[in-house]
Amino acid sequence: MIYQDSKTLLEVRGLCATVNGIDILKDLDFTVRSGEVHAIMGQNGSGKSTFAKVLAGHPAYQVTKGTVLFEGRDLFALKPEERARAGFFLAFQYPIEIPGVGNSQFLRLAYNTVQKERGKEELDPLEFDDFVREKMKLLDMSPDFLDRSVNAGFSGGEKKRNEILQMALLAPCVSVLDETDSGLDIDALRIVAEGVNQLSNKNNAIVMVTHYQRLLNYIVPDYVHVMEAGRIIKTGGKELALELESRGYEWVGVEYEAAAKAAGGVTA
Ligand code: ADP
Ligand code: MG
Repeated sequence: MIYQDSKTLLEVRGLCATVNGIDILKDLDFTVRSGEVHAIMGQNGSGKSTFAKVLAGHPAYQVTKGTVLFEGRDLFALKPEERARAGFFLAFQYPIEIPGVGNSQFLRLAYNTVQKERGKEELDPLEFDDFVREKMKLLDMSPDFLDRSVNAGFSGGEKKRNEILQMALLAPCVSVLDETDSGLDIDALRIVAEGVNQLSNKNNAIVMVTHYQRLLNYIVPDYVHVMEAGRIIKTGGKELALELESRGYEWVGVEYEAAAKAAGGVTA
């Protein structure tokens, strides 16, 4: 929701990033304020996941230009784990499996690390077990997933729920959900969306990265952005997602190019 007294949580200016020497993000601007829900849409390969991973601090991506302020701090001065402790969260498009690391231990360690950072109470294994089971109920997850290795052998949809479970536990300030809808059937989608909606409040913000509009029927965005060739080329309200659904993405690029040409700008 858009609030009058919101504060800027994330301010991205002129961000350029490369992977393996290839330019992927090209002069990206993006602002998120507290209370807001954003959707970043765009065709495959437009750079959405790259943007998400650059924000999280993935080591394969090099930032070559631009700035990101996270609650007014230089995000790039923080290591990935410091970003996480400061309240930045990324739900991965492709969550990795970590055989040998128990899910319950993993979740508790992550939870306690964030609690400690916030000067709040840490939980011992028994206390945590009760706490995490409550959160799992919200996401309709079986407690069996606590005893397994992190994501090991989980189906695509189960991995996505496990990502949202982490979000529910960590109560992040800014959550970026990368294609959380992919791999979810319609019932799971609804449950996950309800979970996310319950976590959304006036102090935090959610950025959903998706190329389908269906998730946005359940988590209604305040802003919809279209990404193409590593930058945001159009921003609108929730109705823009419906327009993309019916008209596809091409017209947005055509409009952007025409506007850039009219302004005498250079396009890449
Ligand atoms: P999206 O999430 O929008 O589908 P990505 O950010 O995953 O897009 O990818 C953007 C572009 O960057 C694609 O052309 C992709 O092939 C390229 N890319 C991403 N990761 C790598 C990598 N590790 N090495 C080379 N190219 C990459
Ligand atoms: Mg992606």
